[in-house]
Order: sequence, then C-alpha cells, then structure tokens
Amino acid sequence: MPFSCELSLDCLIQVGSFQLFMNFVRYYPIAGAAFLIFYFWKKDYFARFKIQEKYPAAEKIWNEIRQSAITLIVFSSIGITIYSLIRLGVLKSYMYKDPTMYGGVPYMILSFLMITVWHETYFYWAHRLMHHKKIYKYVHQVHHQSVNPTPVAAYNFHYIEAFFEAIYAVIFTLTVPIYYPVFIIHTFYAMIMNIWFHLGYEFLPKGFASHWFFKWINTSTHHNLHHQKFNGNYGLYFNFWDRIMGTNFPYYETYFDNLADKRNITVPTENEIHAPA
Ligand SMILES: [Zn+2]
Ligand SMILES: [Zn+2]
Repeated sequence: MPFSCELSLDCLIQVGSFQLFMNFVRYYPIAGAAFLIFYFWKKDYFARFKIQEKYPAAEKIWNEIRQSAITLIVFSSIGITIYSLIRLGVLKSYMYKDPTMYGGVPYMILSFLMITVWHETYFYWAHRLMHHKKIYKYVHQVHHQSVNPTPVAAYNFHYIEAFFEAIYAVIFTLTVPIYYPVFIIHTFYAMIMNIWFHLGYEFLPKGFASHWFFKWINTSTHHNLHHQKFNGNYGLYFNFWDRIMGTNFPYYETYFDNLADKRNITVPTENEIHAPA
C-alpha cells in the first residue's frame, strides 16, 4: 500500500477505496478500450487478424462485464483482509518499500522473474485441477461460458475461482521479499497479459508458435483455443508446462500458422474478378 494507518474503520475504508480504485480504474478502462477498438471502432480494419470469424453475442459480452465486477470485488476484499491481518500482526508480509534493501535493482528484477515463474506454475496446476470433471461445473465453467472470448472476459470468473486466481500473490508476498512498486508492476503486467490472451485477435507472425525460442511463449491463439476446445492449452504466460506435460493441443502450431496464412489472403475486388484476362 502507498500509505499505512492504524487499524481502524477509517483506515479500512481508505485501504478498501484504494483497492477498488486500483482494480476498477485499471481493468475496465483498459479492457474496455481494447474492446471498443477491436469490436467497434476498428472492427473491419482488424477483421483479418480475428482468430474466430464470428463475433460473440451482446448478451455474452454483458455477462463477461458483469462477472468481471464480481472478480474485482473479490480481489479487493482479499487485499483488505490481508492488509488487516498484517496490521493486526497475524500475518507477516515481506513486501518492502525501501529500494536500497536486498541490494537494490538486481534483486528487484530477480523478484519480478520469481513471481512470474511462480504465477505460471501455480496457474497451470490450479487450472488443470479446475478442469477436473468433479470440480469443473461448480467453478471454472463460468469462465468457459465465453467460447469466443473478448478482452472483457479476462476477469470473467466464478467468485471461488477469483479467490484462487488472487491467492498466489498472497502466498508470494507472505514468503518472498518483493519491492512494493515491483509487485504493482507485476499485477499490471498480469492483467495486461490476461486481456491480451482474451483479445480474440492474433498479430504474431507465422512460425512464432513453432520457433525454437518463441514457442516457449504463449500466444493469444493458444488461450483462444483453450476457450474453444477446453481440455488442453492450460498455460498462462509461457508454453512451458503444457509442452513438458504434453497438454498442448496437438494441432496448436498448425492452427496458428493457418491463421497467419489466412490473414495474408487478399480478396479480389469486383473489378478484378470481372476484368478480361
Ligand atoms: Zn480464459
Ligand atoms: Zn480453463
């Protein structure tokens, strides 16, 4: 938190307002702007980059927007609860505000990498667990109502899933030192990547998904396929665990390249079709 106060109702209102502000002011304008650009303003211009040809029904999109609000309230509630428990001395946070601690910038970079790797690992295995047939319909099915996701589907979670989506950050900050601004940058990066993976568009070039180096990085197509076909492509930022565990859809790379080929096909105009040879 950028402030600290004695635990009181006033303090909790301050912390709560800050949490809500951070969550609502960051998510809706950014996901909303991406949605307006790609689904209204420049829809025709970007059409050749669309992963699925169809556009989702308005009702589905409203549902994604509403459900995202529940996720943001859960995220904020967790923030308030953890902050209170730390102030009460029940929990100890390793988040720090002095930039000279732990050797300065090199450790800041290292801690950013550590939280990214931890988030990836946590997300992959929690995601696979949520796809277990005995659990799926109670929690994760809400996220999969979006078969053709839009940027506002990024936080379209059941409230129980929202809790588990956030708890990795709590575990990390209660066990590993991290500079407060680095943590905020991480949460911002996580949100942007989540919006990117639900964008519904692919801009990366042909061969990216099979390149010896870039194949380890996930694409928007990778997660879009997860929404289309469900039982595969579970990873988040990286294509590490899916490759190691053999859970990528076997046609992922071909599907990716076909999309890139398709976008390069230029449809001839009426005049060109009827022009004499
Ligand atoms: Zn998703
Ligand atoms: Zn899933």
